[in-house]
Amino acid sequence: MSAVPNDGPRTRDYSRLESTAFSRHATRITAVVAGAGALGNEVIKNLALLGIRGLCIADRDRIDASNLTRSILYCTKDVDEEIALGTPKALFAARRAREINRDVDVSAYVGEIADLGAAILRRADVVFSCLDNEMARLELSWWCTRLDKPLVDGGLGLQNASSGMVSIFPGASGPCYACRKSGERRRELLRDLHGREDPCWRRQSDDVIATTPLMASVVGAMQVEFGVRFASNRVRADEGRAWEIALHPKPRLDTFSFGRSDACPLHDPVSMITSVVERVDRRSADWAVLDLLAESGSSDASLVLDWPLTARARCHGCSHEWEPLMRRARFRGERCPQCGGGELVELEVLSEIGRSSPWASRTLAALGLPKGHIHEIACGSSDAAPRSHVEITGDLELATVEAC
Ligand SMILES: [Zn+2]
Ligand SMILES: [Zn+2]
Repeated sequence: MSAVPNDGPRTRDYSRLESTAFSRHATRITAVVAGAGALGNEVIKNLALLGIRGLCIADRDRIDASNLTRSILYCTKDVDEEIALGTPKALFAARRAREINRDVDVSAYVGEIADLGAAILRRADVVFSCLDNEMARLELSWWCTRLDKPLVDGGLGLQNASSGMVSIFPGASGPCYACRKSGERRRELLRDLHGREDPCWRRQSDDVIATTPLMASVVGAMQVEFGVRFASNRVRADEGRAWEIALHPKPRLDTFSFGRSDACPLHDPVSMITSVVERVDRRSADWAVLDLLAESGSSDASLVLDWPLTARARCHGCSHEWEPLMRRARFRGERCPQCGGGELVELEVLSEIGRSSPWASRTLAALGLPKGHIHEIACGSSDAAPRSHVEITGDLELATVEAC
């Protein structure tokens, strides 16, 4: 990416913040912002103005002309050029955050949330979810729960375009995003997440949700207000908290708390990450699954994948066979690389890779696993077998792009 011109202020006086909850002391935190749309723009802008220590912006999309009514960061004189170039939102937003405040270390990740290396989340004090789809929210929430990170979720347009909601999911001891869902909706989401067979595979809908810059400002500000306070005070909580706001037709603000659902399956103690082995000398590109398993010392160790991986597929139309090596949920949106057809048959799906698997000689990168990830190793074949967690710290700097 192009270098950011050094024309911003070289000194910044934080004294007006000093007597508030957002003093320099309180804002020495690192945040991940997932989603750089209307809400993400507001959250990023506020975090940059407050001068937090570190900021990682994650988004898979490119800037579009329709973003400009609600996205202050993209309203620049060269935005037409950036749209023509197809600049990713995460990169553009990171560059703009750096221009707003050079005291903040900013990095960007371009891709799906489920493919973000967990080492990034592990180094965050707080994670802001500014996403517009439930599946990505659930993927992010599951990782935040496992890593015991507070997740501050923002949502727009619950009742109408002048309404929204902010929720804090406190971490390992509290509820997750799925706990808030009805039993039926939770089952649907978990099935989608695992990309399980479904006779009518639904492609992601492109529903346009009506949102205004006004509500994005309000909800984005609430996310930062509550989220930075929560993270800087290092609050421990077993309950989630939510604030639902409407400005029209009758202005109101409702606050409520919520607990963990006993029926939610995403709190299995065996998959919680309490200690991580950091491998600063290893990179995904040159470490095979076999090498990773050898370190566990267990003869029947296996790599447990976060989500099922479609390893081999065939096109029904042209009979082309290939190795997609991507999350099954993502494979649903794929087309045949040879003829472009959409009728695809999965020939092999992996949920774990043991030593005897033919895939075990592949490197972690060749299998399409995230860079800078935390991998789960099961030391035994039963579901309750103890797990260890290994972070591929060596490729942490490859997991994101520096803003400048
Ligand atoms: Zn849950
Ligand atoms: Zn084909």
